Amino acid sequence: MSLSFDLNDLEVLTTNAKQIQDKLLEDILTLNANTEYLRQFLHGSSDKELFKKNVPVVRHDDVKPYIERVANGEPSDVISGKPITQFLLSSGTSGGKPKIFPINNKYFEDMTFIYAQSSSIISKHIDGVQEGKAMMFKFSRAPSTTPSGLPVSSVTGSYLTGEYFRNRPSNHFTSPDEVTLCPDNKQAMYCHLLCGLVRRDEFVSVAATFASTLIGAITVLETHWKELCSNIRSGHVSEWITDFACRDVVTNILGGPNLELADLIEEECREESWKGIITRLWPKTKFIQSVLTGQFAQYIPTLEFYSNKVPLISMVYASSETIFGVNVNPLCKPQDVSYTFMPNMSYFEFQPADEGNKGEIVDLVDVKIGCYYELLITNYFGLHRYRMGDIVQVSGFHNNAPQFRFARRKNLVLSVNVEATTEEDILKALNHATDHLKSSDLILMGFTSYADISNLPGHYVFYWELKSNKVNGVVKLDNKVMVECCRVIEESFNYIYREVRTKDKAIGALEIRVVKQGTFDSLMEFFISQGASASQYKTPMCINSSEALEVLENSVRARFFSDKLPPL
Ligand code: AMP
Repeated sequence: MSLSFDLNDLEVLTTNAKQIQDKLLEDILTLNANTEYLRQFLHGSSDKELFKKNVPVVRHDDVKPYIERVANGEPSDVISGKPITQFLLSSGTSGGKPKIFPINNKYFEDMTFIYAQSSSIISKHIDGVQEGKAMMFKFSRAPSTTPSGLPVSSVTGSYLTGEYFRNRPSNHFTSPDEVTLCPDNKQAMYCHLLCGLVRRDEFVSVAATFASTLIGAITVLETHWKELCSNIRSGHVSEWITDFACRDVVTNILGGPNLELADLIEEECREESWKGIITRLWPKTKFIQSVLTGQFAQYIPTLEFYSNKVPLISMVYASSETIFGVNVNPLCKPQDVSYTFMPNMSYFEFQPADEGNKGEIVDLVDVKIGCYYELLITNYFGLHRYRMGDIVQVSGFHNNAPQFRFARRKNLVLSVNVEATTEEDILKALNHATDHLKSSDLILMGFTSYADISNLPGHYVFYWELKSNKVNGVVKLDNKVMVECCRVIEESFNYIYREVRTKDKAIGALEIRVVKQGTFDSLMEFFISQGASASQYKTPMCINSSEALEVLENSVRARFFSDKLPPL
């Protein structure tokens, strides 16, 4: 089959979604037919029907041994017909360690395509975007390497340190590349803010991949505004900015003392309320761009508060495994965002999510409006019928390409940043903590949790109802034991939680709020009054209804915080 469409044109792409998906699967199967992985199922064939019949739907654990063999130096054709040149480190994972995914340059070609699509869509809806600059909070870390010497990095990190970013056609950022590429992310964050403030006249937008990073930027602005103003006033960058390249280039941008600007910023930051601070400091802001769907939707009210209701735009749905699609209606409410899947990225299949994973798997163009599906992807780099763990709901079609609302991650329970803490993570951590409780004659009668983002950075709150293990015993709370429990929970959480908490300081200390006895009975009564079944009631492991939280908050008798950063 040959296709002669203009694959850069969104309308052409979405109109021909079926043909493009069929051709893409044919290409992948032809390319990978002789990999060790596919050969065992297809014996060299690249037939679509055989693929559907023989190739199993898999999870990460199933393909991990193959991926690891390539990472350890075996030839790429264990899984991929084309050479694997690097690995992406996924952040949005559950379980202990981050996952790695094989890729090559094609991934960045796709990413460049998606960025171009998304900026052309924004330009169609908002005037004057091309002429201005974006304060882009992006950060890179030096990549690590696999045992065979291939680089391993996050999606953003790989993109920023690679040729596609270096050779991009135009530069729309307030920060020079030396800042974006500064390996010390704390220095980079400060310099992003400093450059953004100095270049506020050229400014049109604020951007970060995920909304949690924007919240992090506001936190740094809150703690450092006096210092930023003093740098602008004197024309000297703070001494702790020691990265030479970064320091040099930011000094240049400061361009000497600027008293007037320093006064102006100081005046705004001194105001008691920081409502609208983004638009007060950067009055030319036309929009804020960041992922605000899924686990990041919790930040919408906070960003609305700081931004005085300039449009909050979520443009791209992507992962380390593949890029899915773009939002073709950027000015819709952030709560209503859908992503139109791009049929030229990967081969997408959908398993109905409402039927306990038993329903028939369907193709991209065959999904039904309103239904929930778990995403399965087949990409160019060795993943075939891979379960993403993301659940999406069909909200409509753009031409023949379906649009999806991000519904949830399959296992996510708690999150305040990019980490995903699952029920399993929580239960494991609780087991460790309750072991500690034993020394104090207390037993745990009820628990639930809550991701508190009312103060920044957000932190996890565990509500505990405790009882003495002696008949008629009194609950005596020992501060040392309780703080230790907080610490043990944090230490038991997955690697990404500990990394974001300890390295990035983007999660606050975990808190246990001990509630009065009987509170969890009142909580149950509350849920039953709301329609829950009394016979099947289970205390939710995580709560976000404000009424339910009120039941708990009214009964809090003591609070304890973790006093140490968890080791990595
Ligand atoms: P990572 O591989 O670390 O980039 O994480 C990818 C995961 O982040 C996806 O599988 C989603 O669960 C989540 N994610 C990425 N983009 C979005 C989006 N636009 N809306 C909601 N969740 C997203």
